[in-house]
Amino acid sequence: MPKIALLPGDGIGPEIMKEAVKVLEAVSERFQRTCTYEVLPIGGEAIDRYGDPLPEETLLGVKCVDAVLLGAVGGPKWDKEPAHRRPESGLLRLRKGLGVYANLRPIVACDSLLNVSTLKPEILRGVDILIVRELTGGIYFGAKERHAVEDGEQATDMLVYETKEIERVVRTAFHLASQRRGRLASVDKANVLESSRLWRETVNRIAPEYPDVKVEHVLVDNCAMQLIRNPRQFDVIVTENMFGDILSDEAAMLTGSIGMLPSASLGAEVDLYEPIHGSAPDIAGKGIANPVGIILSVAMMLRHSFGWEDEAQAIEHAVNHVFQEGYRTKDLASDSSYFLHTEEFGNKVVEEI
Ligand code: ATP
Ligand code: MG
Repeated sequence: MPKIALLPGDGIGPEIMKEAVKVLEAVSERFQRTCTYEVLPIGGEAIDRYGDPLPEETLLGVKCVDAVLLGAVGGPKWDKEPAHRRPESGLLRLRKGLGVYANLRPIVACDSLLNVSTLKPEILRGVDILIVRELTGGIYFGAKERHAVEDGEQATDMLVYETKEIERVVRTAFHLASQRRGRLASVDKANVLESSRLWRETVNRIAPEYPDVKVEHVLVDNCAMQLIRNPRQFDVIVTENMFGDILSDEAAMLTGSIGMLPSASLGAEVDLYEPIHGSAPDIAGKGIANPVGIILSVAMMLRHSFGWEDEAQAIEHAVNHVFQEGYRTKDLASDSSYFLHTEEFGNKVVEEI
């Protein structure tokens, strides 16, 4: 019986987590499967209760389960905390502590939502991209410094990558591309950054191991533009941590809302699943968050961590069907007077399952 750690976190985290658990229970009932849960603290909520955004209890707890499902962390309440005590630093330590270096972010345009975006439906129809974001290296983990200089201060963030860190995530991306449409776009800034030159050389060295995959190198600024101009040209995109963070928020809008995207962070014994969005403090407590990102993260968890393909598909079909019937959350609604609240949308998905 698989055991799942649930880390609701802050802001809309607990609201969407409630819907994820409902969906998990519905699918368990339909397919006669059981899993057990353990709720653990993380982020601002953990700072308030334990003085640490990643308490020992949580770090030890997540290593004793089969998968981790996370809501979101952070919020203005903790903005004044020193860097090592910010909610986000708890999440970075969790990813690093688990060793989940490959963050998979599928971006699939749903036919019934093509009119939500301001982009033309002809551009969006059929979009099916997988962003593979390196998750445990790069500028988010490099040395940070700040000191006084004449006339003010100086701040430094180091962007460091080692060959082996690049190799493992690039291999994951090649492997995934070979199982999809066989195309890999490696995104970097090799005309300016030394770390990007190492990235590009590493990709070129690994490429011959995957003769069925066609690789191209795309500069990150060009990639940002191409994602809007002609997103269907992309199959798998692999890139370093910060570029992946930024490009996936942008790519989310191809689906209609940032609230739609799930993610799976793989590479270690225990994998981590979370929506790509943050804690959305501006809408927290209003019951209007879109729970689809975390619900589809549950589907990814059942597929990748437990091998429950039918159960994963049941969730994905249910979400699509609810959209086909015309139901929308507030972020997707063109008529802002008619939309389902977070809980009502979750109930529709549960009914469908
Ligand atoms: P992080 O640094 O944690 O990624 P962020 O600064 O990128 O956070 P988000 O919390 O993702 O910010 O929110 C960005 C915007 O998207 C906000 O206006 C927020 O309300 C909206 N948003 C994020 N998630 C959802 C969701 N699930 N449903 C609806 N709107 C959302
Ligand atoms: Mg973000």
